[in-house]
Amino acid sequence: MMISLKKGGKMSFIDVKNKKGTADKTPPAGYSTWLDFWEKKKGKKATNCEVLSCKGKADVGGHVIKSGEGSKEYILPLCYSCNNKPEEEIFKAWDNDLISVK
Ligand SMILES: [Zn+2]
Repeated sequence: MMISLKKGGKMSFIDVKNKKGTADKTPPAGYSTWLDFWEKKKGKKATNCEVLSCKGKADVGGHVIKSGEGSKEYILPLCYSCNNKPEEEIFKAWDNDLISVK
């Protein structure tokens, strides 16, 4: 994972979890996939899985929720393996890289 510390500002890790039962959800009009949604909102290419400890590729735009925040969904680029983590498994990601589904 490439981490740029030059930007400064608030960059922090947060605890997130997979949201299950989202496989049949289609992205909003104008986006071909959830990964495409993330890339266009973020204005950059998703290259690496965003799970902090993972060195996988960004295979999909995974639906995640912030631990303790309730059911609000965010999109995060994940590798297939991380996208299949059990719902109760907490992992760390950059707060800035979560894109709200809204
Ligand atoms: Zn991963």
